[in-house]
Amino acid sequence: MKITVIGAGYVGLVTATCLSELGHIVHVINRDPHKTASINAGSPPIYEKGLDTLLKKNIGKTLFATTDYRNIRDSNLVFICVGTPHQQDGSADLSMVRAASRSIGENLAKTEHSPIIVVKSTVPPGTTEGIVRPIVLKYAGKSDISFAMNPEFLREGRAVEDFFHPDRIVIGCSDNSIFTHVASVYRNIDAPILVTSIDAAEMIKLVSNAFLATKISFSNEIGNICKRDGIDVYEVMKGVGMDERISPHFLNAGVGFGGSCFPKDVAALIYFAESHGEDPIILKSVMKVNEIQANRMLFILKKRVGELKGKRIAVLGLAFKDDTDDVRDSRAIPVISQLLQEGAIVVAFDPVANITMEKIFPNICYCGTAEEALTDADACLVMTEWPDFSRLGNEFERMKSKIVIEGRRILSYHDREGICW
Ligand code: NAD
Repeated sequence: MKITVIGAGYVGLVTATCLSELGHIVHVINRDPHKTASINAGSPPIYEKGLDTLLKKNIGKTLFATTDYRNIRDSNLVFICVGTPHQQDGSADLSMVRAASRSIGENLAKTEHSPIIVVKSTVPPGTTEGIVRPIVLKYAGKSDISFAMNPEFLREGRAVEDFFHPDRIVIGCSDNSIFTHVASVYRNIDAPILVTSIDAAEMIKLVSNAFLATKISFSNEIGNICKRDGIDVYEVMKGVGMDERISPHFLNAGVGFGGSCFPKDVAALIYFAESHGEDPIILKSVMKVNEIQANRMLFILKKRVGELKGKRIAVLGLAFKDDTDDVRDSRAIPVISQLLQEGAIVVAFDPVANITMEKIFPNICYCGTAEEALTDADACLVMTEWPDFSRLGNEFERMKSKIVIEGRRILSYHDREGICW
């Protein structure tokens, strides 16, 4: 099939590259010419495990990056994968979805052909039907274009693997022929396909992320309770997760969730609920527990080192999780902000996210190794579960005082204190 993917970020570029690997002819459109140039040169502008190899293999053969929307005119399907960040009030900023819809419409006005427009971006229920459809139809000057919603569930860091081995594929659409077309894109992927209404598909994505975030905040609250009594929350949640009704996933207590999805999707669901007259008590608590958890890291630190002014604090891990360079809403951000506010000297290290964090904190010191960051530090905070950190041992001996506080349970080093263990 001829497919166009709009947006070459974590979702769009992975989707486009993996679809090209499946044998489709794929054009990925991004408004940033630097990104498209980098992709066409075979170099992904984001770090994602396995993407580099697949991109190099397919670029210029079945995969092409461009800033030009004209390619959609002979596509069978167009996937919208642009960002939907949250706004101050928690609602989703749909301006990029609107802009992409308009560009699609303007280009379809110049052709007889009409591809199916599939929204893959995470959007509040009602967006595909209430925003994307009317904008595309208005600018195309047509009424015979079909729409579908196909939410994406990939995890950053494991996105390529998740694309080829998803738990399920959800396709929201209004008739069987649209479903058949969209489903045929994935015909070589072995996964159950659920067909739903468009609104339900939009809701499934928000609710899935809200539920996972709830499991994390719940585990963190239990961890905070367990720590008071010296009970190991990891033993507790292991026992809890062995119940198949619960599952062992997303029960790791720690410093909380971040990233470009969980905080914004829970916020969007809260906003959606409130704008429909509901008070989502559980969802609001999920966010509150998450915010407080970052403060606990600082609370423990201050209890151990006293006043932070002039203290050299090593921060290990900047990405919101391991195996990615994405720092959006990373829990390291509120922690570093607070450290700086209190006059600490922040010395940071992340295996791949130093550069992305430098855009947010240009004035802290970034190190090339964990050892460098730890040298002469008054304390160390571990913020990301990079597997490499588990091998750190002698490196901690280089600290001025060996105060090591873990926000993720990853160290094998014995002399450390966990945020909730
Ligand atoms: P991103 O910010 O990494 O990428 C979006 C890309 O779209 C950017 O490169 C931007 O330049 C480009 N863009 C914006 N407007 C455009 C336009 N009008 N035309 C062409 N390109 C345009 O975002 P992302 O992380 O890939 O997320 C995309 C969507 O997928 C969001 O709705 C997100 O919630 C959802 N999602 C993300 C993940 C994830 O793990 N990142 C997982 C599942 C779903």
